[in-house]
Amino acid sequence: MNVLVTGGAGYVGSHAVKLLAREGHDVWVYDNLVYGHRAAVPAGRLIEGDLLDRDKLEGLLREKKIEAVMHFAAYAYVGESVTDPAKYYGNNILGTLSLMEAMRAASVSKIVFSSTCATYGEPDSVPIRETQAQRPINPYGFTKLVIEHALADYTRAYGWGYAALRYFNAAGASADGDIGEDHDPETHLIPLVLDVALGRREMVTIFGDKLPTPDGTCIRDYIHVDDLATAHLAALNKLGQGTELKLNLGTGRGTSVKEVIEACRKVTGHPIPADIAGPRAGDPPALVADPSAALQALGWKAKFVEITPIVESAWKWHKAHPKGYDDRG
Ligand code: UDP
Repeated sequence: MNVLVTGGAGYVGSHAVKLLAREGHDVWVYDNLVYGHRAAVPAGRLIEGDLLDRDKLEGLLREKKIEAVMHFAAYAYVGESVTDPAKYYGNNILGTLSLMEAMRAASVSKIVFSSTCATYGEPDSVPIRETQAQRPINPYGFTKLVIEHALADYTRAYGWGYAALRYFNAAGASADGDIGEDHDPETHLIPLVLDVALGRREMVTIFGDKLPTPDGTCIRDYIHVDDLATAHLAALNKLGQGTELKLNLGTGRGTSVKEVIEACRKVTGHPIPADIAGPRAGDPPALVADPSAALQALGWKAKFVEITPIVESAWKWHKAHPKGYDDRG
């Protein structure tokens, strides 16, 4: 299939691109490289551009005879979305609507969309099923929820088919250690902890150790980025006119911050000093997926369930590329 991947130079997008190419699809990446990395994209497959450039997108969809879009391009810093919501509404909502209009003009009607567990906000209970109320508690989650609704409306009105895949905590790196996580600034737990093992940071700070969880620290569902890529491909293959898939992508297993740090100590052999701070604003104590709907709809389930092999794959990448993609020039 001829597939356009927006945000294909980013963390999750680049792993999907790699899998699509391996499976023989004709993949094109559209990315403005604000947060993405040229080196994460196979040579000759990157088109630099902004989502708001509707005409450029339409031309590209026509020229490459694109049959489906995987849409990863978005700003994804929760904290920044609170302090600079204009950036998030502008890019994540207006940018996506621009892409959707380009698709409509070029008669492309299949899309797999990166959504997030942040659309649930503070869940009523865990594990979280797709039927739970979606009440985001920050602008980032809200922008993703708005697009879920827009996709549902376009599907009803224009005969589209879509999948909104609600990721839990993406983690790990490609098995060959070739591509991986490289955010600037880095805010995610696993890369921050591994930075301590690399001597790039002195210690890690645990955000809250008196929460209502067994060890007092936050629980998250860490899902391997290659498992996310596999789910995207499975969803793509299911899309037809009127398809509407809204699925959680997680392992179903929760891991606490302390358990993540312990796994990193084990994998790296480094003592990784940690101190305790208060909880981060807007961090729910526990977010864990019920992934059974994805199993039923796609025949998909995570291959990586334990935290240790996820950390091992991340460590392989970070050790080989301590400064991320900068190490490649
Ligand atoms: N966390 C932490 N220290 C850090 C970064 C994160 O204790 O320096 C915690 C955070 O409170 C959350 C978990 O680690 O419970 C995962 O955070 P991350 O930012 O990786 O992902 P999020 O769950 O916010 O999407």
